Amino acid sequence: MTSPLTDFSRLCIHTITTKPWPLEECIENYVKAGVPAVSVWRQWLEPNGLDTSARMLKDSGLRITSLVRGGFFPAKDEAGRAAALDDNRKAIDEAAAIGAPLIVLVCGAVPGIPLPEARKQIADGIAAVLPYASAAGVKLAIEPLHPMYSDCRSAINTLEQASDIVEQLGDGHLGVTVDVYHLWWDPYLRRDIQRAGDTIFSFHVCDWLTPTNDMLNDRGLMGDGCIDIPEIRAWVEEAGFTGDIEVEIFSNTWWAADQTAFLDKIKTAYIEHC
Ligand code: ZN
Repeated sequence: MTSPLTDFSRLCIHTITTKPWPLEECIENYVKAGVPAVSVWRQWLEPNGLDTSARMLKDSGLRITSLVRGGFFPAKDEAGRAAALDDNRKAIDEAAAIGAPLIVLVCGAVPGIPLPEARKQIADGIAAVLPYASAAGVKLAIEPLHPMYSDCRSAINTLEQASDIVEQLGDGHLGVTVDVYHLWWDPYLRRDIQRAGDTIFSFHVCDWLTPTNDMLNDRGLMGDGCIDIPEIRAWVEEAGFTGDIEVEIFSNTWWAADQTAFLDKIKTAYIEHC
């Protein structure tokens, strides 16, 4: 049994959840709403530049849960794979600059590259950047994505596959992200969460809507879909996870709504449905 959430001390919001807000408005409105933590998408660092963005975040007092996202390792040629490594090193520099302890990896996939080959390129890519990450004091988390994204976003689609790479590379700076949206359907999820144990570095929530009208941007507010989020939270907590509960919602519907009202709904849904 999981204990209900009674306060907002573990609530983290991804900047992409309130996509219409630039970084300064995310900061201002999260702080005003009593949201203590943020996961920063890299695009939000661009308008003000890295140094200014880092200062804004530090001055805000918000806890930085993670930088999103690194990854996209597979490519059709050597130059493409090398460019991916460069971009991941840049992400590690950005994470270190803003004080993010973790980078979430969306590992990548390319139509035409067989999935086993893509998975090998992913493991090789992570192995290549891990020393740079650990030298910077930044952890990396492999986020398995729902299989509907295995064509072009991630060849890592189950927690088992993610943990296989974590075990293969055997480095304490590498772990996994459990996102309920990507993993709720997996009949072996509880077993694989137990296996992942203290390599679970982060936990993402939203909900699965029926019907889902867009494969990427029709994710639901917690409680509006069919995922038993408290059950999955209980599993990650049984495995030892005590970190932030990160609200990550890509939604054309919610992005078109009033974001302040949406933030209020997120807080209610967090208490009632997480
Ligand atoms: Zn996620």
